[in-house]
Amino acid sequence: MKKLEIYIHIPFCEKKCDYCDFLSMRADEGTKREYVNGLIREIELSKDMMKGYQADTVFIGGGTPSILREDYIEKIMQTLKDNCELSENAEITIECNPGIVNLKKLETYKKSGINRISFGLQSANDSELRELGRIHDFAGFVESYKMARQAGFNNINVDIMSALPGQTPESYRDTLNKVIELNPEHISAYSLIVEDGTPMEERVEQNLVTLPDEDTEREMYYLTREIALKNGYKRYEISNYAKPGYECRHNKGYWQRVEYLGFGLGAASLYQNKRYSNVSDLNEYIGLLLDGGKDEDYYGGMVYQDDVWDIQEDTLNILHGKISTLSNKDMMEEFMFLGLRMTEGVSEKKFKMDFGRNIDAVYGEVIEKLEKQHLLERKEGRIKLTDRGVDISNYVMSEFLL
Ligand code: SF4
Repeated sequence: MKKLEIYIHIPFCEKKCDYCDFLSMRADEGTKREYVNGLIREIELSKDMMKGYQADTVFIGGGTPSILREDYIEKIMQTLKDNCELSENAEITIECNPGIVNLKKLETYKKSGINRISFGLQSANDSELRELGRIHDFAGFVESYKMARQAGFNNINVDIMSALPGQTPESYRDTLNKVIELNPEHISAYSLIVEDGTPMEERVEQNLVTLPDEDTEREMYYLTREIALKNGYKRYEISNYAKPGYECRHNKGYWQRVEYLGFGLGAASLYQNKRYSNVSDLNEYIGLLLDGGKDEDYYGGMVYQDDVWDIQEDTLNILHGKISTLSNKDMMEEFMFLGLRMTEGVSEKKFKMDFGRNIDAVYGEVIEKLEKQHLLERKEGRIKLTDRGVDISNYVMSEFLL
């Protein structure tokens, strides 16, 4: 059976953070309920696409999935189990925002088969959190984290961010130490990217906030590595650290180009060498999937009937929007620049297996040049970034565009 990953997007948040350009919004309870009904319908309509596959990972992300009523998550999980074969030891993650989760929710997640929690902490410094427009504080995070342990989760990720406005290496070190003290199995540490059109961008442009310069940003990157390694974590990707055996299988799958199906608003998929993203307008999404069935839902004890819902045969085609079929060239490029993100790098043998050509026949000159520049190293059939290569990884990756 072929391996598959599943992503489920929950696009709701209590408040939009000031740096966020993800597909997320505030919504009332009625909209959330309609959305979940639509999502369930989408998964059911996609049953045939999942035949012959076994899902090895599921990631319920957002937005803030933990904002939903716990029975909605239960229903989504049940729908997945009914429509797709999940592997026995599937890694099933849900993103939770500190403060927007409680013990009952966490226990329900556990019972429904979810076995990994990912918390968006970002910083242990409350004034940095306020600057980001986050609604939680560090004490609230610690409480949520302990609750997750109490509910029985033994695989927890904590997201932190560097290069924040006003952040210093000392305050970042303090965040790292406080997180590590809690002993999570996994830490994701990304730098803040100031996205166009966000309130954060406006504040940066008006010089109302100061961002750390590039050298300080690199210093924070090295701090993460130093402190994480010292405490038993291994860096397995440019920005991801895990205790042995706790690398995020879902993320690794993305970097290894495992096929994935995304369900929900704007969710992206890689399926049979095609990439596409679902429509990103909430009303369009709900309308497409629930047309004719608005008064009925799963929570009043009623289920849809096909004749009532009158779902057109091509619903999925409209939902998936523009589909790009990947050429061999696209796939080779992806193989390189996704694979090189991982510290294990890319396998020459796998390249040959996937594309029927030796890696040198395609990339020989580039690899040689980057090796000479000490940006890549080649060892035991694998090609990986050096430390210097990681520092300027954007340049290295761009060299693999054909
Ligand atoms: S919680 Fe996450 S998804 Fe929601 S607004 Fe903040 S950054 Fe965006």
